[in-house]
Amino acid sequence: MSLARSAVLPENLIRQELLALSAYHVQPASNMVKLDAMENPYTLPQPLREELAQWVANSAINRYPDAGATELKAAIRQVSNLPAEMDVLLGNGSDEIIQLLAMAVAKPGAVLLSVEPSFVMYKMIAAFTGMTYVGVPLTEDFELDLPAMLAAIEQHQPALIFLAYPNNPTGNLFDAAAVKQIIQAAPGLVVVDEAYYAFASDSFLPQLSQYDNLLVMRTFSKLGMAGLRLGFLAGAPRWLNQLEKLRLPYNVGVLTQGVAQIMLRHHDILLAQAAHIKQDRAWLYERLVGTVDVRAFVSEANFLLFRVDRATDVFQGIRQRGVLIKNLNGGHPMLSDCLRVTVGTEVENEQFMAALQSSIHQFA
Ligand code: PMP
Repeated sequence: MSLARSAVLPENLIRQELLALSAYHVQPASNMVKLDAMENPYTLPQPLREELAQWVANSAINRYPDAGATELKAAIRQVSNLPAEMDVLLGNGSDEIIQLLAMAVAKPGAVLLSVEPSFVMYKMIAAFTGMTYVGVPLTEDFELDLPAMLAAIEQHQPALIFLAYPNNPTGNLFDAAAVKQIIQAAPGLVVVDEAYYAFASDSFLPQLSQYDNLLVMRTFSKLGMAGLRLGFLAGAPRWLNQLEKLRLPYNVGVLTQGVAQIMLRHHDILLAQAAHIKQDRAWLYERLVGTVDVRAFVSEANFLLFRVDRATDVFQGIRQRGVLIKNLNGGHPMLSDCLRVTVGTEVENEQFMAALQSSIHQFA
């Protein structure tokens, strides 16, 4: 006879802060023009695809990957012009690196600070790792509120600060002088998250050796490798050596390492695609600005944020017309009536604009 015991229920076992979270939501997108997730819309030239196929066919997927990813790291150093004295740590996407950083500093009561609105994973990962999250509101035009930031740093003594540069979902590049003051005032690490570096006019990578508490994080997701899952953290070896202890040894697989290496050998192709996206961003921005009832925000990323009346209706109208973007209305109060569109191909951008215009018309 088995011993009677009460049912094993998630709500009794799972940490309270996890029960309280909702999962990161990914919208269904099949058969849609997909402009919701900041992906590069372009595929690769045929010869490069063949080179990749050849490599994949011959790769040793029966073996564990190179745990140190030596060759891939060397390629990354080269394409990123990393200062010689700095190191890189690789992640399964930069999401994983955010988590690793938080795990490393999550002493009881430790604070993770960021701005709002910004990338939602900072707050979610603070909850995953038991850190206390502090979100300092941006100004109304989505700039850093420097006095509020300095006051919050003084009050909360954050172990970890994340600043997305450019910011997601607003698209703007914060004032570099304000970021520098924050780095100088911070008692802990400041991570400048350059997920959108390929589309931006500035970077903190060259500043790494100026500050003892600065790390720069990047991802290859927006440059055309979102499906590979590869991000990196650049910084001084004294920080990265500690973080390496937490990294699971095989977090970047054989296929990701090999394919990324080949793609980085053809970095010029990816950069040309990024340049194209930047041009089309300018086109799309002008079109949005010229649309009655739309207010578009200047962007240094591969997406544009805009405000429109009845945003949720307009979003749904756009979706019904076969184009998927991101609805930010109903999330953070500062993003009321805001929608975010990723810059696609010229044809996709035209499709989006047509869908937007007829949706606005429908709900006017
Ligand atoms: N940082 C920012 C600011 C982002 O917007 C994103 C993706 N939306 C990421 C990090 C994570 O990117 P990935 O995990 O694909 O590297």
